[in-house]
Amino acid sequence: MKKVYLETFGCQMNVSDSERIASVLASDGFEMTQNENIADVVLFNTCSVREKAEHKLYTRIGQIRKFAGRNPVVGVLGCVAQLEGETLFKKSDGIDFVLGTQAVGRISEAIGNVFEGQKGYVDLEKREENYDWSVTENQRHSPYVAFVPIIEGCNKFCTYCIVPFSRGREKSLPAADIIRHVIKLRQQGIKEVHLIGQNVNSYRPTNDSTLEKSRGATAFSKLLRAVAQTGMERIKFTTSFPRDFHPDIVEAINENENLCNWVHLPVQSGSNEVLRAMRRGHNIESYFKKIDTIKNSPRRLSLTTDIIVGFPGETYKNFQDTLKMIEYCRFDSSYIFKYSPRPGTPAFDIVDNVSPSEKKERFMELDGLQKLIQQEIFKSYINRTIKVLVEKASVKDDTQFSGHSTCQKVVNFKGSSELLGKIVDIKITEAKVNTLFGSVI
Ligand code: SAM
Ligand code: SF4
Repeated sequence: MKKVYLETFGCQMNVSDSERIASVLASDGFEMTQNENIADVVLFNTCSVREKAEHKLYTRIGQIRKFAGRNPVVGVLGCVAQLEGETLFKKSDGIDFVLGTQAVGRISEAIGNVFEGQKGYVDLEKREENYDWSVTENQRHSPYVAFVPIIEGCNKFCTYCIVPFSRGREKSLPAADIIRHVIKLRQQGIKEVHLIGQNVNSYRPTNDSTLEKSRGATAFSKLLRAVAQTGMERIKFTTSFPRDFHPDIVEAINENENLCNWVHLPVQSGSNEVLRAMRRGHNIESYFKKIDTIKNSPRRLSLTTDIIVGFPGETYKNFQDTLKMIEYCRFDSSYIFKYSPRPGTPAFDIVDNVSPSEKKERFMELDGLQKLIQQEIFKSYINRTIKVLVEKASVKDDTQFSGHSTCQKVVNFKGSSELLGKIVDIKITEAKVNTLFGSVI
């Protein structure tokens, strides 16, 4: 049996794609391995959102090829594969085949062709009509949490972003398939599903007959209510696009206990000038309105975001608007990125007048303020009891366990393996900047 090692870079969508790639390979007679040193095939499922992730690919291929006495087939999959196509063979001579974002269902065919001696194999074609979105149980990243893609691609074309080019146009999956998928996962013992997509709340299926009986102001809030009806214990969703964030989403959450207390709403900047240059489709006033709705929700919803610092043309005054914005929003956590120029995007052609050192300083200043706010929020959990899904034991100490709360906080506590997969009450005793600590009650 040929052994395959698969390494994944980037977002949840890539993790989810990798789960399906591993499922296909396992059912086609390959054996998945965690050890690259014994693999006959090494696969990289790549990310192109920032330059760093792309560089990592070339470093890893170099490492694989250097290893003496072994010469596995190397395949590059995902976003970098889709964007670069056959030019990848020129960039690195350690690559045997290239498979684009929608071609991953044909992975076994690609490997088979390379084993038969085909050189320069590239498949960047569309997804098959009957593509199977399911994941076999032992290929899931967690035995208790499952990703459920509901929309792929992106139509928004924010000026800095490569995703619409690497992932193609938005395509919503049929609601009937999504509901069936969640029901099956529940039967398999999954406790938490994450409905995923670049912009889940832009969900717009071509035929929504399954949602006819579901109430809601948008197809997405109808879908949320319909998924809540499946009885799945916990439902989370990410990422939401601010312009399409309808207040009915907050209503749906409040009506259904199993829709979790968490919204991820990437703002990118606090400056209207920068937001315009980014072509985000929202301004800061409209964003604050959505934040107010989320903050005024009867159930406390935790709020997270993404921010880019040092976008070309961002002045220090613009950046100060971002500092003010995070003081207003008080995010439970933020993913802060330094702007990374991506060839092929409109922003790539704008002169980048924010120097690397200014980008770094802004990153540090924003991160420092976010950490202060975050520490205050996390400390407010001390002495409160919250529900946590017990997901794993610590690798260093098998009496220590961790999991996520409904508000998406990582919580650590002392426990035993019988708790795995259960939702338990944890009384919080200590708060660090990114994690909570507590004890089972
Ligand atoms: N679709 C989501 C949205 O618009 O909110 C985000 C998806 S994107 C893959 C994840 C995050 O990467 C973005 O929210 C943005 O902050 C960041 N990102 C995208 N392009 C970037 C770039 N060129 N440089 C730095 N960060 C970038
Ligand atoms: Fe990229 Fe904007 Fe699409 Fe998000 S919405 S994936 S940031 S283009």
